[in-house]
Amino acid sequence: MRIVLLGPPGSGKGTQAAMLKERLGVPHISTGELLRAAVADGTELGKKAKAAMDAGQLVSDDLMLGLIEEKLGRPEVAPGFILDGYPRNLAQARALDELLDRLGQPIDRALELTVDEEQIVQRLAKRAEEEGRSDDTEEVVRNRLAVYHEQTAPVSSHYEEKGILVRVDGIGEIETINQRLADALA
Ligand code: AMP
Repeated sequence: MRIVLLGPPGSGKGTQAAMLKERLGVPHISTGELLRAAVADGTELGKKAKAAMDAGQLVSDDLMLGLIEEKLGRPEVAPGFILDGYPRNLAQARALDELLDRLGQPIDRALELTVDEEQIVQRLAKRAEEEGRSDDTEEVVRNRLAVYHEQTAPVSSHYEEKGILVRVDGIGEIETINQRLADALA
């Protein structure tokens, strides 16, 4: 089962993807986590990505495609995957389609978590306190939401046109939301 998980920053994608991974037994690929690890390790990728991440902007499509190609080529991805944080714009969505077509492994379902903006700002403020993520400050959060509306929201329409998008209410108990996502895959 090959899944793309969509939704604004703070919609709970990371938490839900980690739970879906257990349910479905397929790897969870979070580009944000991969990038944060690259920054922490001081790799070339990390050095190139850091400024964009700190500003709440997108890392370049070329760097992201390199990262995602490398991940999706690995044997552990053969049973499927849950992609969290990629694609973030239409160019990435098209690049992913091409890559997966080449591999003969198209996306089965795109799940979009819907959450209202007020809720997001509250959740991210809480996460900033709990996890101390450097891109959860108010100004950067505002940038990340603007980037989401301008660049990432059209990705949902891309999958809607392909007939594989399901929108899932992202408000409620974590377990309830996870069950909704599982139902959307059934
Ligand atoms: P996330 O944890 O998914 O919110 O990602 C954190 C940050 O990493 C984002 O604000 C971007 O700067 C960068 N990032 C993650 N995924 C992508 C992507 N697919 N394209 C470009 N930048 C990304």
